[in-house]
Amino acid sequence: MDKKHTVVVATGNAHKLTEIEAILGAAPAMAGMRFVALSELGDFDDPEEDGDTFTANALIKACAALDETGLAMAVADDSGLVVDALDGAPGIFSARWAGAHGDDAANNQKMLREMADVPDGERTARFHSSVVLVTRDEDGEEVLVGEGNCEGTIARDLRGSNGFGYDPLFELADIPGKRMAELEPEEKNAISHRRRALDDLVSKLV
Ligand code: IMP
Repeated sequence: MDKKHTVVVATGNAHKLTEIEAILGAAPAMAGMRFVALSELGDFDDPEEDGDTFTANALIKACAALDETGLAMAVADDSGLVVDALDGAPGIFSARWAGAHGDDAANNQKMLREMADVPDGERTARFHSSVVLVTRDEDGEEVLVGEGNCEGTIARDLRGSNGFGYDPLFELADIPGKRMAELEPEEKNAISHRRRALDDLVSKLV
């Protein structure tokens, strides 16, 4: 493998790899770089994501990918849902809020319960994404961080069958009445928190 021209993407999610490759790969500073999912390079254990911010957890994943592969450049992201009436919960715990990691149905039921008594005007929330690009050489590490939000409100029922996670509960501020889970994948990718975080990261690449 050409170490100088390979970026390891610390995700097992094929959609994220495609999105990251399309957006970061188009930046002039990344010309000639090849993006490879960590899962294609070996069977590595997930690191413990014990940071207390999205960025800290993304950094843990990117640095673990560099340690595991010996490559010089890694990208990782961490995202979640931040609900104002719940003081920012579930936040970095979004995936495992109701117990088992990635149990979307249980997470959504818990959200409906926790928000049942919250009045309409106080149901604001946002999806947040932090994307980090870590470059390592003999002189040390350089870290670039991109952050993005997608604003909305928490609905009182589930609607739509696209997407994943909290999408059926998330009503978009920019498209009133529309849930994230009712968007086609291309529509979601154009406005998502991940898209905005990647655009922010690209704007910092020189
Ligand atoms: P991850 O950082 O992509 O692993 O996301 C962590 C958790 O945040 C997911 O398991 C979901 O519960 C939630 N989440 C992140 N992004 C989205 C999204 O685009 N839609 C719905 N839920 C999301």
